[in-house]
Amino acid sequence: MYDVIVVGARCAGAPTAMLFARAGYRVLMVDKARFPRDTMSTLYIHQPGVAHLQRWGLLEAVAATGCPPMDRHGYQVADVRLEGCSWPVDGIRAAYAPRRHLLDPILAEAAVAAGAEFREQCTVDDLLFEGGRVVGVGLRTAAGRSEERARLVVGADGMRSRTAALAGAPTVFEDPLMTCAYYTFWSGLPTGFEVYQSTDRWVGFVPTNDGLTLVGTYFPQSEFDTVRANVRRAYLGNVAAVAPGLEERLASASQEERLYGTGEQRNFFRQASGPGWALVGDAAHHKDSITGKGITDAFRQATALTECVGDGLQDRPLLDAALDRYAREHQDLLMDGYRDTVATAELKPLRRLGLLRAIADDPVMTERFFSTVSGACPSSELITPEWRERARV
Ligand SMILES: Cc1cc2nc3c(=O)[nH]c(=O)nc-3n(C[C@H](O)[C@H](O)[C@H](O)COP(=O)(O)OP(=O)(O)OC[C@H]3O[C@@H](n4cnc5c(N)ncnc54)[C@H](O)[C@@H]3O)c2cc1C
Repeated sequence: MYDVIVVGARCAGAPTAMLFARAGYRVLMVDKARFPRDTMSTLYIHQPGVAHLQRWGLLEAVAATGCPPMDRHGYQVADVRLEGCSWPVDGIRAAYAPRRHLLDPILAEAAVAAGAEFREQCTVDDLLFEGGRVVGVGLRTAAGRSEERARLVVGADGMRSRTAALAGAPTVFEDPLMTCAYYTFWSGLPTGFEVYQSTDRWVGFVPTNDGLTLVGTYFPQSEFDTVRANVRRAYLGNVAAVAPGLEERLASASQEERLYGTGEQRNFFRQASGPGWALVGDAAHHKDSITGKGITDAFRQATALTECVGDGLQDRPLLDAALDRYAREHQDLLMDGYRDTVATAELKPLRRLGLLRAIADDPVMTERFFSTVSGACPSSELITPEWRERARV
């Protein structure tokens, strides 16, 4: 009998398992994959996410992989360019973009070091119920089928969560698909973190490990069929369209990997808990990746769930109250970033060109702007009435 079984061992599952194990609980973490293994991601971890890594004692290991700290950001829309950085969070001023085959094993190893048992290549294909309550999981491995029981089963198994489906977690909130994304890795492309936008087009340059730069492009979902008919042409065309001159930078660099991409980036919140079960990460809430918030939010969800449960896991009424609280807080915690993401994924940046122009002229506002992007400042607090009056926007 475990206290907690965590299904999925990446950005959401591994920190959840680590935090429960550090709190003294008996934890089993399972993943159907074998690590280290890459997963689709443009890798960006905002300052609040990096601050979680520091709090957990893992930032040093992540930085030691060689991904460069990014404490200077560029954002360009048409002729308006903002340069600056987010406010620091817990003294952390830099964002990082570690490759996922490096980051995810660091997180999983931290869970194991805290005392969690980790089974790889182990698939959850069933939930065990007693009186309407989840009391364990059915597991499938190369050796056959087995069952394990726990007081709490946490689904950290991604957007298509099997745990959520088996628990019957309803979708409580959903917006339509908005973009499709393609990216690859380049060498010989020295750059900081930069984002370029024009109508219906978004391109980001993200420095990562081994001197490589991830160049990512976003298109409207309505173009997905055209884009995937000739991904390379669409990808390079997107780069050329947002900022003349960028395609020459790519022409003098080398593409090191194939193009990766997806047209399925759903925007939803699921019911995040029920009797004996909870969801964290993409399983609980998914949004377009254009704002690069999934990893940071997974860290925040792991923290929120484990703090809500606290030392009440072995007391059923206390646990049920904690799970209810987590489901409510989870939505409040993530709604601001979700709204920003949906607005960004509309790919209509020219609507706010006047505002961006005024912000670009003001270094204090520029820093405030980058802080709303990182999540260090609520986006509702970007514009004060006094500044709006002064800037006449
Ligand atoms: C194109 C793209 C770009 C992105 N860019 C960024 C970015 O720049 N920054 C950012 O913060 N986020 C980004 N994201 C989002 C980010 O990658 C996710 O939010 C994050 O990986 C979610 O982590 P997770 O642990 O919830 O789920 P996942 O990473 O999906 O991990 C789920 C794990 O569960 C395991 N699993 C699934 N089913 C089972 C089962 N039945 N039994 C056992 N194990 C199971 C899987 O093997 C997997 O390892 C991007 C996403 C995409 C698609």
